Amino acid sequence: MNATDYPATTASAAPGAGALEENLWPATAALDPDGVLRVGGVRVDTLAARFGTPAYILDEDDFRARCAAWRRSFADCDVYYAGKAFLCRAVARWVAEEGLHLDVCTGGELAVARSVAFPPERLLFHGNNKSVAELRAALAYGVGRIVVDSFAEIDRLGALAAEAGVRQRVLIRVTPGVEAHTHHYVSTGQEDQKFGFSLAGGAAAEAVERVLVAPGLQLVGLHAHIGSQIFDTAGFGLAAHRMVGLLARVRDTHDLELPELDLGGGLGIAYTGEDAPLDVDDVAERLLAVVGKECAAAGLAVPRLAVEPGRAIAGPTTVTLYEVGTVKELPGLRTFVSVDGGMSDNIRTALYDARYTARLVSRPGAATPGVVTIVGRHCESGDVVAHDVPLPVDVRPGDLVAVPASGAYHRSMASNYNHVARPPVVAVRDGAARVIVRRETEEDLLRLDTDPAAEPTPTVAPGTAAASSAQAR
Ligand SMILES: *Cc1c(COP(=O)(O)O)cnc(C)c1O
Repeated sequence: MNATDYPATTASAAPGAGALEENLWPATAALDPDGVLRVGGVRVDTLAARFGTPAYILDEDDFRARCAAWRRSFADCDVYYAGKAFLCRAVARWVAEEGLHLDVCTGGELAVARSVAFPPERLLFHGNNKSVAELRAALAYGVGRIVVDSFAEIDRLGALAAEAGVRQRVLIRVTPGVEAHTHHYVSTGQEDQKFGFSLAGGAAAEAVERVLVAPGLQLVGLHAHIGSQIFDTAGFGLAAHRMVGLLARVRDTHDLELPELDLGGGLGIAYTGEDAPLDVDDVAERLLAVVGKECAAAGLAVPRLAVEPGRAIAGPTTVTLYEVGTVKELPGLRTFVSVDGGMSDNIRTALYDARYTARLVSRPGAATPGVVTIVGRHCESGDVVAHDVPLPVDVRPGDLVAVPASGAYHRSMASNYNHVARPPVVAVRDGAARVIVRRETEEDLLRLDTDPAAEPTPTVAPGTAAASSAQAR
């Protein structure tokens, strides 16, 4: 986008003071009288001093409450938390404790689940190209369900399961031909894409036949995931309608009523005040109604439903805390506020042109609002954290700035671009903070580098930036 597309100083809402926007901030977030943000009962100036910046601050109560809300709304259904949104051992434990199931899509995510003894029957394994080693690991752990995604995988998994002497329960991933109104990088229901078997093209029906005759496999149901960051129930309703149609065809062709239907994830969240997310209860009501009605019309017993929220659980629970390093005013163009993170901790702005908001959270700031572009510290001009953010005009080096809605697809997509160490995840609850994923250090960054001529990693002199981030653990 062209630099001149952004007004340099247009004022909008008063940024420094006033209440936190609803829906955007973690449930326990509040502003102290001196303008400092508090999350989980802990002030962010305290968090920055203790753990350094940037840091992901995760509201544990909010995360657990969201899990509980999904369970309530989808009572008598299986709610799988989609681990790819953000997974670590603490989160896997919370998910287990809150009675949810867990969806993993790699051997790495499965390893996290295994490391906390996540109940295997409550796991579901996704992916369009699971390796033989990953499939073996899933079979060995007794993963409850594997979602098959290709004919090659049906043969591969069937053979591995037979060899292991088990009958693996599987779902078939179907692309129901639904265009969710979302970014095409995260839209997965339409026909022309890498995931699943096409419903309209007949591949899904053929996959059913092949799984039914595979020796090591037990077909228990169908799966569809139409996309992510969706704000409209119509797509979910249409997908449910088509999937029940396929269940009816399977019944007619094979005299078999499949007992399970998984409708995937994708519910959108608010990243800025302009997003109006759907209510979980409303989505549940709509989906259950559609499935109930379609099943009655087709003379089918209602299958057990499953859903797989990722973003809607993890996203709103977390803020990223940054420190401002430089403020650069380009007269007549814009003001760039540089923070100490960027595209290595939030790739979504560069990848999806995602919109974010941000707020000065370490003091009230001048009443006059300006509009700034918050950028990171990486060697790319596309390294933007948030476009057109209202911040007080006196924003300056040393200020803390927080970006809400950064709990999903932030830490899980974080990179070491420019050899920048990835930030920690700090869980806050009832006035206490604990690190659940520690900050990387320069030692971590050098650990995989095996240059045989290299000297042993030098110890870092005290007082350097690297030393302070190491201490911040
Ligand atoms: C990504 C994904 C999810 C979670 O999507 P959200 O938009 O985070 O809710 C669920 N199921 C499947 C198969 C996915 O690929």
